[in-house]
Amino acid sequence: MKKIMVTRSSMPDMDEYISEIRELWESHWLTNMGEKHKTLQRNLREYLCVDNLELFTNGHMAIELTLQAMKLKGEVITSPFTFASSTHAIVRNGLVPVFCDINENDYTIDTGKIESLITEKTSAILPIHVYGNVCDVEKIEKIAEKYGLKVIYDAAHAFGVQYKGRGIGAFGDASCFSFHATKVFNTIEGGATCFRVPELGTELYNLKNFGIKDEETVVEVGANAKMNEFQAAMGVCNLRHVEMDILKRREVYNRYVRNLRNIKGIKTNTVQEDVKPNYAYFPIFVDEKEYGVSRDALFAELKKHGVYTRKYFYPLTSQFDCYQGTYSCESTPIAKKTSEMVLTLPMYADLSMEDVDYVCEIIYNASLLI
Ligand SMILES: *Cc1c(COP(=O)(O)O)cnc(C)c1O
Repeated sequence: MKKIMVTRSSMPDMDEYISEIRELWESHWLTNMGEKHKTLQRNLREYLCVDNLELFTNGHMAIELTLQAMKLKGEVITSPFTFASSTHAIVRNGLVPVFCDINENDYTIDTGKIESLITEKTSAILPIHVYGNVCDVEKIEKIAEKYGLKVIYDAAHAFGVQYKGRGIGAFGDASCFSFHATKVFNTIEGGATCFRVPELGTELYNLKNFGIKDEETVVEVGANAKMNEFQAAMGVCNLRHVEMDILKRREVYNRYVRNLRNIKGIKTNTVQEDVKPNYAYFPIFVDEKEYGVSRDALFAELKKHGVYTRKYFYPLTSQFDCYQGTYSCESTPIAKKTSEMVLTLPMYADLSMEDVDYVCEIIYNASLLI
């Protein structure tokens, strides 16, 4: 039986990658901010339309070290409908996540509910651009200004997204991207932080290299989160093709929307106004009452036919075993309900139209089973 995975990593032609890494056999410079690292940093600044950008070995360390670089204290307001990384990064910095609900339209933080969660201990807001949907950045900026809070966006899903003609990484005090193999743009593993104040760059640079300032001066309790030259070379190659990949993703998106439009009880994600999207994911939301079959039953039915989907995000981060008894999901009912309805369908640049049709046919037929 044919298998359709939920994602498939974009890769350049092997020859293109080999010619990119050939120089490394001459220089023997494999990591520690070499030539490939510098090139990728420069190219990404341009592509993402941002002034400042630091590379990291992965997206999680970008978030974790950005929070550390800002020397935050106390509480950070975030939402639990996200990947483990956003909440873990807060907790691993000794900070307390305060969970705000999401909105039903784009699944990002409900900005109408942020202010009631602010206390004298609040130091920052960490919103997530879920599925590449843009948070209400204007409202968030207003709130942050009013209360003197820092804003760090988890932009792991939002590579290449623009809002009102501006790169999404240019909003807030910082935005963290992931270049993991499963993301729209990958460096195998990798990540970056874009930031407003140039001085933060020195902090981030030091923190990803053990806090070492120079040979004899260690100024921070840093980590090791440097992007190596092979990762950076992969990024240099993949960046050449990312616009084409996004165009191909758009075709997949349009085909899904067309096919699923008339299936009762299946809701899809809509492209927002003023946004240049990246079509990172294709989530559907299953209304069991209308569709007739539960999300979990549909997941199993698709799997039976070789189609691998993901309950992304389920469970909420506040429901994780490691946080049992610490946080509750009762105060975020929309997030809870959404996590119980969501299924992300296969989505990647090279997914064929035939495969999209095949997936949709299973979804259509499953509703007829009852
Ligand atoms: C992928 C992802 C991360 C972490 O990125 P890695 O590069 O895998 O460390 C963080 N937040 C969200 C929402 C993600 O999807």
